[in-house]
Parts: sequence; structure tokens; C-alpha cells
Amino acid sequence: MIITRFAPSPTGNLHIGGLRTALFNYLYARSRGGKFLLRIEDTDFARNSVDAKDGILRAFDWLGLDYDGTIEYQSKRLEIYKQHIQKLLDSKAAYYCYMSKDELEALREEQRARGETPRYNRKYRDFMGTPPAGIAPVVRLKAPLSGEIVIEDGIKGKVSIQATEIDDFIIARSDGTPIYNFSAVVDDALMGVTDVIRGDDHLSNTPKQILLYKALGFPVPRFFHIPMICNEAGKKLSKRDGAMGVMDYAQAGYLPEALLNFLVRLGWSHGDEEIFSRQALLQIFDVKDINTAPSAYNASKLLWLNHHYLNAQSNDSLRALLEPFGVSIAPNIAAILFPALKERCKTLVEMKEQYLEIMNPPVYDAKLFAKNANQGALDTLAQSLAILQDLAFEDAQTLEESFTRNIAPHKPFLLLRLALLGKGGGVPIFVAMLALGKDESLRRIAALQGAIAAHLGGG
Ligand code: GLU
Repeated sequence: MIITRFAPSPTGNLHIGGLRTALFNYLYARSRGGKFLLRIEDTDFARNSVDAKDGILRAFDWLGLDYDGTIEYQSKRLEIYKQHIQKLLDSKAAYYCYMSKDELEALREEQRARGETPRYNRKYRDFMGTPPAGIAPVVRLKAPLSGEIVIEDGIKGKVSIQATEIDDFIIARSDGTPIYNFSAVVDDALMGVTDVIRGDDHLSNTPKQILLYKALGFPVPRFFHIPMICNEAGKKLSKRDGAMGVMDYAQAGYLPEALLNFLVRLGWSHGDEEIFSRQALLQIFDVKDINTAPSAYNASKLLWLNHHYLNAQSNDSLRALLEPFGVSIAPNIAAILFPALKERCKTLVEMKEQYLEIMNPPVYDAKLFAKNANQGALDTLAQSLAILQDLAFEDAQTLEESFTRNIAPHKPFLLLRLALLGKGGGVPIFVAMLALGKDESLRRIAALQGAIAAHLGGG
């Protein structure tokens, strides 16, 4: 059985790179009837934050990424790591190192001065003497002195590292807590993880982890190191490019379906298809289709996908989606406005703004008002009012046709826009009229009459 996991460190907002890693692990396990586990790597007590952890869980919830079993917290597993560190000490695969920070720094300085890469000199690897007093030791792994370590990576292919590249790295700090490479290996092994899919920024950890699996007598999982997400210029993704926290996307009015679809295509492809439902992905996702080249974040594609998924929503589900944005839209108004809003809006936030723009009292665009503040406009508005008074406000098209038939010769649509919406653009004006209802529409037209009259009177 395939068992994957997502193992975030709760030290900051979950970003889209992390979420994409989670998604690939989720899809791979779920598409094969396997298990997808969630592990919170919270052993960095100085940098952990409860908010970050809650943010990860909220994001999983919002996106419907369900995991198997209960969440494992590394902070609750310290005893397990200690036992495994002890096991390595007992088998002499690891040892206590008493080198002080100052001594290590001095050593590094010397090595740098000689033009060498700074690294620990294995001073305590076979140490038999009396340990120096007053130093709490770290634990280091006895890394092999020769040979090579081979990673059979599912994306990068075969990656070989000379053993001489890897020094006797630390596996436990002087306070006994394990470092990431150690706790991750112990957990992945004990949790039965078969496939590790993660960002290729971790590729340099993998040889060390392979050494640890072997030292501990655990089977080595399959690795898939996915290329990073960059901006359109090929540089590291920054906040400005849209590298915001996952829940910021929810707040900006994106739909979870759109974000998932967007993310899966950042580094994975299936022919030249662009639209993937979760159901489809659960059928077709395969790690072998993960791209080997970095992928570029494309903000307009995300908007395009979001527009697509907004359009697919029923009126009722859109009403529900807009509720958290503070707008409650009655079913009859939704039925009138949503077709026009769906066409124009790419996010829920835009939808909310355009909705409020229609429903809130208009603020006249100064230029448009100045251009129309004349006697001709007053006459046209009076004529419009008289015609609209007698018409039924039942559907936008009939209303428009009846109105247009009666008003002649000029069609005062821009003037009506100014009266109802305060501006030149927006949804079709008769749709707005229907949503506002007869009373409010007539009231707004009369209000513009009043404003123009006052302007002319005062001028
Ligand atoms: N806690 C690590 C991170 O957030 C996990 C890396 C891994 O998947 O092994 O980068």
C-alpha cells in the first residue's frame, strides 16, 4: 500500500509551495487506495507558532484535503526519538561529540583560511578518553568514510553523492532533542511511509536521511523531489508574485477548486488539459507525470480558473459562498444578478463589490454628472420616469424592450446608468433595475433629477 505524508513545520503561514506538496502527496495516496498522513514537525520550540499550525489545519479543511488517522505531533514523540538515538549510540553507529561551539568555530576558520570547505573533523568519532568537563555533548552519526550514496529519485532520476561530501552530522542537539533529519526518518519509518514527495530544496537532506534509515535498519522509502515554483521571470517566488498564505487566497475570493486545479498544474501535466476536477485527478494523477523543470506561477491563469469555477456554481451555492464576505443575497435577487455578475467577476470579492455597487446608493461619477447636468437630461429623466412608472418589472429583457419602444429618439441608457449606478459601466442597466425593484429604481432616477436641478439652480 502507498503511504504518503505531509510534514509541515508550523513556523509560518502555509504557502502555496507547501500546499502543492501536500496536494501531490494526497492525490498520489488517494488515487491508489493508499493512505495520506499529516505530521506536524514542531520540534523547533523557539519558532513554532500555534497560529501557523491552526492555519495549516484551516487550509486543509477549506480545501477538503482529508488525512488518515490522527495528526502526529513531533513534540509529543521526543521519547521515541531518544530511544532511537540511544539505539545508535549503543550500536556505535553514533557518538557523543564534546566539541564546544568556540572550538568548532576556530576549526572552521582554519579550514576556510586553507581554502577548504568548513566541516567537522570527526575528533570524537572514536574517542575513548575522559570527556571534557562542563560540555553537554551533541550526538553525531558515524557517516561512511568512502563509497557513494545513491538516491533513486522518482523525478530527478539517479543522484549519486560521494560519502566524502558528508561529514559526521549532528542528529541530536546538546539538550537531547533530535534535529529534523533524524526525527523525520524515525517518523517516516514508524508511520510506514512508502513514498516521500517534497520540494527539491530537501534534496541535500536526502543522502543523510538514507544513511539514517540504514543505520536504524529501516527500509528506505521512494523519494520524489519536486522542482520549485518560480515567478514568470524564472526567479524565486516572492510575496509580490502571489506567494501569499493559503488562507489569503480564501480571503481574496478564490474557490478551493480553482486553487487546487491551479496548483496541480504547477509541476504536473496531463496532455494539454487545464481543467481538472478533484474526481478526475483522483483517477489520473500519477507521480510519473510530475515535470522535471521548475514551474512558473501565473496569476492570470489562477483568475481564469477561478472564473471558470465561479461560473459553475449554482445560485444557492454562490449565495452561501458570499455569506462569509458579509453579503446576504436574497434568492430572487441572486437569480436576477448572478448571471451578469458571473460573466464579469473573477473572484468572490469582485462579486461582492459589484453587488454592493448596485445595491448601495450611487455616488455620481463627477465627470459623467457634469456632462449630463443640463435641461435636456432633466427632460429625458422625466420622460423615462413616466414610461417606467407604467411598466411591469418582471424580467430585464421585456423591461428593456418596452422601455426602448416608448422612449424616442435617443436612448438615455448612460443617463440611467448615472442615476442608478452612479457610473458609466457595470451590469446591464435593466438587470440592475430589476434587482433594485421599481420603487428604488424610480427613486434613484428622481434623485438624479433633483441633483441636476439643484446644480442648474445653483449655477
Ligand atoms: N518539516 C519539513 C518542512 O516543512 C518537512 C520536509 C519533508 O517533507 O521531509 O520542510
